[in-house]
Order: sequence, then structure tokens, then C-alpha cells
Amino acid sequence: MRVAQLGSGTPEIAIVAGVHGDEPCGVRAIERLLDEQPTVSRPVKLIVANEKALERQVRFVDEDLNRAFPGDPDAETHEGRLATELVSELGDCLTFSMHSTQSHAEPFAIVNEVNETATTVCPQLPVVATVETSEFAEGRLFSTVETIEVECGLQGSETAAQNADRLTRAFLTAVGALPGDTVRRDLPVFRLTDVIPKERAEKYEVFVENFTEVPAGDPFVAADGVEQIAEEAFYPVLMSSNGYRNVFGYSAEKIDVITSSPTAE
Ligand SMILES: [Zn+2]
Repeated sequence: MRVAQLGSGTPEIAIVAGVHGDEPCGVRAIERLLDEQPTVSRPVKLIVANEKALERQVRFVDEDLNRAFPGDPDAETHEGRLATELVSELGDCLTFSMHSTQSHAEPFAIVNEVNETATTVCPQLPVVATVETSEFAEGRLFSTVETIEVECGLQGSETAAQNADRLTRAFLTAVGALPGDTVRRDLPVFRLTDVIPKERAEKYEVFVENFTEVPAGDPFVAADGVEQIAEEAFYPVLMSSNGYRNVFGYSAEKIDVITSSPTAE
């Protein structure tokens, strides 16, 4: 784990990259901040989490770090121990954690719960939606530390790295660490309702677009040609053919739109 800081004092905000070792976009954003050393109005902690997995360009070494929180200092796995170290390093910091995905090119935010912080910060980020994980948060960083996760784009793409950079700056501006104004937008909120299981197969297909409603009765995925049919209408989220080992992704309901309230400035 690599820890650095912009500004002096005790940080109340943190930027985390590399929770997954095969998602280098956020690391680039942090390295750029370290190169440029922008003047900040509030100190910011910068963390590159799973260096060992990043070196090997794999999602994790022993287990998924973002399912290992709060972790255990005596864990047998690298990520189990790392989870504890990361939690103690983050303390009470409001944390911004960057990921990338195989499911959706446009950035979106993921939070445990749409609370006041999420309602304030997320509409100021260049994202198309906010996803609330609700009961599917077990083991994720935000089950332990107040965190806004962002999916920056497609894994390994140059666009995801550029998005990570824009998202980081928007977050730091939204929390008053960098000067300037953010652009506010109305954001739909999707709450995860179920996982979409994936049987072992040779060939996986996804027929639907993330965040676009699937009508009841429509086929939405197939494993070796065996289709799953929507029993009721739902919104697919984080859905991809080969992104996860055991699940295609999640079904969600659209629960709200966070409106961009006019600013006081
Ligand atoms: Zn990730």
C-alpha cells in the first residue's frame, strides 16, 4: 500500500485507487496529482491500495479486496490483512475510491446508501447515475468507511484513465479541496435488488444495456444459448458477459432522481 498526501494537516478526505489490481485508471489519476502537486485548501490523503495485485495486473492476489472488509490483521490472505491496514489508514476520511468495469463505458457512482453526503457530492461528479448497493454491500470498503465509489469506464482503456482524472478533480472541487465550480446535473438513483446468477458455460451473452429498463418477458442474458427471461421489469446494473465469475451482474429498481439544486454561489 502506497500512502501520500497533498497539503498539510490531518486529512478528512481520501482518494483511493487500485483496490483491484487490474483497474489501473485510478492509479494514473493519483500519479498525476502527485506530479502536479496542486495547491489544496484541505489536506487530501492519496492511497494506492493493492500494489501487489497491480504489479501482477490481476484483480487480487488471494481474494477480492472489495469483499474482504473490515479485514483482519491475522488473516491468511494478503487482501484480508490489507483491508485492515487500509481501514486504519482511512480512519474517518470521506473516501473516494476509483474502479473500472467491463460492463459500462460511462462513469457512474456507487454508494452504500444515498445519504446527505452522496446527495451533495454525486450530482457534482461527471457521472450518469448513482447506484445504491443497500444489502449487497457486504465486505465492500463502504461497509466500513464512508465511501463514494466510482466506476470510471472500461477496464484498461485510455478513456477510463482520463475519466478517473476528471472524476477525481470534480470530487476534490465538490468537497472544497480544489478551487472552482463543479457542473451539477440531475442523477437517477438505482437500488440493487438482486444478483443475476451465471451458470458455468462456454459462452455468455448479454442482450441488454445497463441502466435501460428490461420489460417483463424479455430475454436478457444467455449461457450457452440458455436464456434467462425477465419475470418482471427491471434495470440491469454492472451487467457484463465476462466481468464476474459467478454472476452476470445485478437487477435494480429506479428509486429516485437527485435533482441538482441551485447553488448558493
Ligand atoms: Zn474494481
